[in-house]
Amino acid sequence: MIPKSIEHIGIAVENLETSIAYYEQILGVKCYAIEEVADQKVKTAFFKIGETKIELLESTDPEGPIGKYIAKKGPGVHHIAFAVEDVDQALQEVEEKGVKLIDSKSRPGAEGLQIGFLHPKSTGGVLTEFCGKNKL
Ligand code: ZN
Repeated sequence: MIPKSIEHIGIAVENLETSIAYYEQILGVKCYAIEEVADQKVKTAFFKIGETKIELLESTDPEGPIGKYIAKKGPGVHHIAFAVEDVDQALQEVEEKGVKLIDSKSRPGAEGLQIGFLHPKSTGGVLTEFCGKNKL
């Protein structure tokens, strides 16, 4: 497994509307999707910049992962997501190489993609996500 590209960069925001306005009005990129991912207690907004997306994450619950993250560290870059062919296989491969996982199996993320997170303790402090299509 070698990541194909940077699928997206996840950014924790306090207010989705204000942050969307920054990307649209200052940078001139258009938000093309807003989606709530109940499982992760977030509302997301997506922008495409070249091949890579920016995923803004607003917490819908202070006890959710983004709510806790912002309470502890404030808003900012939250995670980096690599596009991989098969998320489950990629998770298994890095686990065999000694990486600690947050998700031992893939789960549904935004945009109909399967996702799985690696633990930042094993990745130099960078919360890392694998992201890919569902196995057929
Ligand atoms: Zn993500």
